[in-house]
Amino acid sequence: MQFFSTRDKSVKISASKAIITGIAPDGGLYVPCEFPKLTLDEIKSLESMDYAERTAFILSKYLTEYNFERLTSACKKAYAKFDGDPAPVVKVDDNEYVLELYHGPTHAFKDMALTVLPFLLKEGCTLNGQKENVLILTATSGDTGKSALEGFKDNDGVKIMVFYPDEGVSKMQKLQMITQEGDNVNVCAVKGNFDDCQSAVKRIFNDSEVRKTIADNGYKFSSANSINFGRLAPQIAYYFSAYSDLAQVGEIEYGEKVNFCVPTGNFGNILACYYAKQMGLPVGKMICASNKNNILTDFFHTGSYDVNREFYKTTSPSMDILISSNLERLVFEFSGRSDTLTAERMKALSTKGIYSITDKEREDLSKEFYAGFATEEETFDTINSYFEDYDYATEPHTAIGLKVARDFKEEFGEDEKVVCLSTASPYKFPTDVLKAMTGKELQDPFKASEKIADLTAMPMPESLNKLMVAKKRFTNTVTRENLLDEVLKFIKK
Ligand SMILES: *Cc1c(COP(=O)(O)O)cnc(C)c1O
Repeated sequence: MQFFSTRDKSVKISASKAIITGIAPDGGLYVPCEFPKLTLDEIKSLESMDYAERTAFILSKYLTEYNFERLTSACKKAYAKFDGDPAPVVKVDDNEYVLELYHGPTHAFKDMALTVLPFLLKEGCTLNGQKENVLILTATSGDTGKSALEGFKDNDGVKIMVFYPDEGVSKMQKLQMITQEGDNVNVCAVKGNFDDCQSAVKRIFNDSEVRKTIADNGYKFSSANSINFGRLAPQIAYYFSAYSDLAQVGEIEYGEKVNFCVPTGNFGNILACYYAKQMGLPVGKMICASNKNNILTDFFHTGSYDVNREFYKTTSPSMDILISSNLERLVFEFSGRSDTLTAERMKALSTKGIYSITDKEREDLSKEFYAGFATEEETFDTINSYFEDYDYATEPHTAIGLKVARDFKEEFGEDEKVVCLSTASPYKFPTDVLKAMTGKELQDPFKASEKIADLTAMPMPESLNKLMVAKKRFTNTVTRENLLDEVLKFIKK
C-alpha cells in the first residue's frame, strides 16, 4: 500500500516510510492512496480472533510490506500490557454501549496505538535501512505524552521528548509525566496552551536547518502525535472489534449500521472511524463530541473553520484544542482528494486562522457526521447521572460523548444504536469526577481517588497510586522560543 501527502499527491511512498517520517516535507499529512476494503465475510472472521489478532489483521491491510507474523507477535506483546480485554464493549442501556479504551498502561485510549507504534517505527527503520537514531518530539494535551513515554522508554536507538502546556493538564496527568522513568526520555512544560505547544513542535519539525543540525548529531525526527499514520492505523481496529463483539452477542445483525460517538480533540480517534467506514465497516453516523472549545461543532454546522476565537481551559484538557490536526485528512477526502485545494486551505489556516469549505462539501459531511458539544455543567451532570442511574463511573471526556450521544438520539430516535467511546479512566481526573459524583470538593487527587474507590466497585490502578511517592524527575518550564534549545541540549547529552 502506498501513501501520499494531503498537500502533494505526486510523491508516493511506502507505509513504513510514512510512519518513520511522520509528517510530509510539505507540511501535509500522509494518507493511503486508496482504502483497502474488507468484505462482510472478512469482518465476520474477526469473531474467532482475539484483540491483538484483530489489530494485526487490520494493520496488515495497510502495512503490506511488514511481515505478518512479526506484526501479530508485536500486537500480542503490546496488548498483553493491558488489564484484561483491551477494548471491551459495555452495554449501559438499550441501544447504548460504551467501548472502554482505557485499560492500558497509562489509562487513556492513547495506549491503544502507542503500545504498538514503537514496533511499527523500529521495523519501519529496518525496512528502509535507516541507521540514524530516532528523535521523537511530541506535543501533548495530557495523555499522549505519558502514553508515548511509556511506549518508548528504554527503546534502543530512540530518544523521546515530550512538551506539555504548563497549567493545561490535570494534576494526575502532570504527575504521570514528570515522574517518568527511563534513560532516553525528557519532559518539559511549555508556557501557553496546547495549540502553542503543538505549533512550536511543528515548526521545529519543518525547519530544514534544524533537521540538518539534528542529522549532524546522528538523529532523525519522528512523531508520536496522531498526525503519524502509525498512530492512526491501530485505532481503526477497535471500531471493527466493537462491531464484531456486538454481532457476536446478538446485539446487532451483520450488515446493520452502528453509530459511533467520539469525544474529539485532535480528530485522530474519530478519523479512524471514518477510515473504518471507508474500509467497509457498516457505520451510520459518526458523532463528533466537543467541549466548550466547540470549533469543530461550528465547522460542521457552518463549513468555516475559524480559530479566531477565545480558548477555554476546561476539565477535559485533552479536548482543549483549537487546531485539530487530523481534520486536514478529512477535508482532503471531502474535497474529492484535491491536494491543491487542501494545501490552499491549510495555508489560509496558518496565515489567517480561517478557511471555508463549499456548501456541497458541508452537505456531504453532514450526511456522515453529527456534531455537538457539552458545557462544563452538562459534563458534570452527565457524570453524575451515569453514576446515579447506571452505577457507571466515568470521567469528563467520556461524559461529553455520552451527552452528545443523547442529543443525537433525541434528534434521530431512541432506537438508533450508539457506541460511545470511553477515552480515559476516571482515576486520571479524580477531583473532578468526585465533585461531579457527590458534590464533594477535594484538592488532593489521591484522597479523591480513595473516595471514588469507596463509592464504586472500581479499584484505583496501582500505577496511579504509586505516583503519590514517585520521584519528580522533570520540573523544567520553558517558553516557546526556547523549545529548540532544550531539544538540542537533549540530543547532545
Ligand atoms: C486524546 C484524547 C481525546 C481526543 O482524541 P483525539 O484523537 O485527539 O480527537 C479525548 N479524550 C481523551 C481522554 C484523550 O486523551
